[in-house]
Amino acid sequence: MSTEWDAVVLGGGAAGLFCAGVAGQLGKKVLVLDHAPVLGEKIRISGGGRCNFTNLHSGPANFLSLNPHFVKSALAKYPSSEFIKLVASYGIAYHEKHQGQLFCDDSAKQIIELLMSECTKGNVTIRNPVLVESIAQEGSKWIVRTDTGVEKTKSLVMATGGLPVPAIGATAYSLDIAKQFGLKVVEPKPALVPLSFTADTFGSLNELAGLSVPVRIASGSKGQRYGTCRFNEDVLLTHKGLSGPAVLQASSYWTEGEPIHIDWLGAIERPNGFNCDELFNDEDNRLKSAETILAAVLPQRLAKAFAEQNNVTGRKWAEVSKKDRQALKELITNWSVKPAGTLGWKKAEVMLGGVDTKELDGQTMMSRQNPGLFFIGECVDVTGHLGGHNFQWAWASGFVCAQAL
Ligand SMILES: Cc1cc2nc3c(=O)[nH]c(=O)nc-3n(C[C@H](O)[C@H](O)[C@H](O)COP(=O)(O)OP(=O)(O)OC[C@H]3O[C@@H](n4cnc5c(N)ncnc54)[C@H](O)[C@@H]3O)c2cc1C
Repeated sequence: MSTEWDAVVLGGGAAGLFCAGVAGQLGKKVLVLDHAPVLGEKIRISGGGRCNFTNLHSGPANFLSLNPHFVKSALAKYPSSEFIKLVASYGIAYHEKHQGQLFCDDSAKQIIELLMSECTKGNVTIRNPVLVESIAQEGSKWIVRTDTGVEKTKSLVMATGGLPVPAIGATAYSLDIAKQFGLKVVEPKPALVPLSFTADTFGSLNELAGLSVPVRIASGSKGQRYGTCRFNEDVLLTHKGLSGPAVLQASSYWTEGEPIHIDWLGAIERPNGFNCDELFNDEDNRLKSAETILAAVLPQRLAKAFAEQNNVTGRKWAEVSKKDRQALKELITNWSVKPAGTLGWKKAEVMLGGVDTKELDGQTMMSRQNPGLFFIGECVDVTGHLGGHNFQWAWASGFVCAQAL
């Protein structure tokens, strides 16, 4: 079987299906090929099953890339407000959870159904599961050999996503094809991923698994690949280390061997006039135990663990030396700790790195040196912060690509 298409899209995930639907509705003859038996699996598991499908405030500052300006054009042409309109036009109920993050009220499956309907409206042909065996260029055409036949196309759109969650079919295929055609690839790394710690750095904190604490977190450094970050979010203590939104965000900026910094008091609602120095020096507190003082600003179990770590358990505040008070203050306002590593691709939500944006035209997502070859979505060196930005990138990059097919 051999057919000629305007565009073949490899990967029927968020970016691929959206791009195909838009292009089809612009009158293009589009084929989507995917190796998975079920499409949109990452969308289905996203946002705890409710899909955080975009963010009201999504903008260039929410993305990491070696070229932070690259996202500007696509995000300007397809801002989050456009996808919100589309969601509303399908009557999908949604709500804002936190800092502009929009989730379906009911189920992530509604977003998959939306994408499939958009493809139906555009007469898009979808084939899965199909094994793509090879890709070659013949003159101005792209030849895609699969286990079901050979497809000829004017444009080839690589949308096979990133490496997280191999169990649901993640592959490096887009990166392999980029390399095959001479495009540079920024080394991929797991991001938005929990961090693990060795027993000696983490102390007894693993006993507090399940505890969630609002903190201010900082990670990265100026000389590193993506610079520095600072977030006010929740940290979740787990048996393996640290997770929760604060740590997932920090993980994207973290480099092996470097510490992350947590101000455990940084994000608490401070009562009027609250002053950390006063808390630590206040003579009114003389007769209170060290744990009681710490528990005024920290969850009790964490206060107890920090008191134990600094050997002040059971001591009255008056008996804690100035030096020890200072050490305690440093511990809870600037806890600097070196993670041993990340929990890897199995637990990562996204991939850092990917096809180098220098190789692509940000207006169209087309390879500068290979006319007709496009890369969209997570396979590109553009990684969003937690909070709906990664889907927003899938929609925006898919949209601008569709206009250029
Ligand atoms: C647990 C989890 C929760 C998440 N929650 C959110 C969230 O709430 N909000 C948010 O913005 N982002 C979230 N993300 C990130 C988001 O899912 C991705 O950024 C987004 O799906 C990327 O879209 P994509 O189309 O580039 O890739 P994908 O959606 O991963 O699609 C890639 C497609 O390509 C196919 N494919 C792969 N290899 C091949 C191959 N060799 N041949 C043929 N087909 C292939 C796959 O089967 C898949 O269908 C989450 C990720 C995870 C893992």
